[in-house]
Amino acid sequence: MNELLIVGSVALDSVRTPFGEVTEALGGSATYASYAASFFAPEVRLVGVVGEDFPKEHIGLLESRGIHMEGLQVAKGKTFRWAGAYEYDLNEAHTLATHLNVFETFKPQIPDSYRKSDFVFLANIDPELQLSVLDQVEKPKLVACDTMNLWIKMKPDALKRVLKRVDFLFINDGEARQFANTPSLVKAGRMLESWGPKYVVIKKGEHGALLFGNNSFFSAPAFPLEEVYDPTGAGDTFAGGFFGYVAKQGGDISEPNLRRAVVFGTAMASFTVEKFSLERLKTLTDEQLSARVRMLKELSHFDTP
Ligand code: AMP
Repeated sequence: MNELLIVGSVALDSVRTPFGEVTEALGGSATYASYAASFFAPEVRLVGVVGEDFPKEHIGLLESRGIHMEGLQVAKGKTFRWAGAYEYDLNEAHTLATHLNVFETFKPQIPDSYRKSDFVFLANIDPELQLSVLDQVEKPKLVACDTMNLWIKMKPDALKRVLKRVDFLFINDGEARQFANTPSLVKAGRMLESWGPKYVVIKKGEHGALLFGNNSFFSAPAFPLEEVYDPTGAGDTFAGGFFGYVAKQGGDISEPNLRRAVVFGTAMASFTVEKFSLERLKTLTDEQLSARVRMLKELSHFDTP
């Protein structure tokens, strides 16, 4: 009951920020999203692909969070690699290299036992692959997807076909502007919503997140961290935390529950950015997470006279 299937990239990331750098560290959209979702969803099932060079300890780390890994294919060849850099504006990732490697021939195979998952999260991968996942699952309660500038540019039509089939779209601010072709985030949110998803969540990095849908609107601040070390994976962590929270609540899409989901996603993501890769998430406790959620409530609360 309330299983959450997550399909996306499992990667080795090389990242440079003004504060340091890391080479071939564990990353990928499905990795961050699954790890975050494992704090909430009763059962997380990851589907993706890695090459024969993928370190076994990374699989062990995800298994240690109770994430089901039977859907991770190990293919001949090298693992997907992404290299990125950030300047002082940590909101913008500059992609230095994308080596698809085993992703070039990847065909997601959803194990039979996963086809009836109640919740499906299509983390950032090629939208054609996202569509092929949707063709293999049976009547999920809710479907969500994420994407990125590369696919908006290369495969906008496939991405629009994905949007027609999802309940939630997660997208960052720059990408929302790019896709909807407008500088206004409010217009972009409404336009993206009109293309299919019931809800659109625009992630704004250090400026928080916006939730559009069902004639409502919610804005949450980001957690005010003094030091952000590496923003890589913040968006995926946010989405995994948000959707994992919704799965935990059995798919409750009432406004108060979705607002809470935004705040839990925000709190989760605030830990990811404190260290490289999944280093900070590895030591995160439920109590630390709850404390940040309480602080987010306090810092955005005010009374009217
Ligand atoms: P974000 O949450 O937006 O910071 O996502 C960062 C993650 O996206 C990194 O761990 C990368 O491995 C992954 N990534 C980057 N480019 C792609 C791509 N083209 N397809 C799938 N995943 C990607």
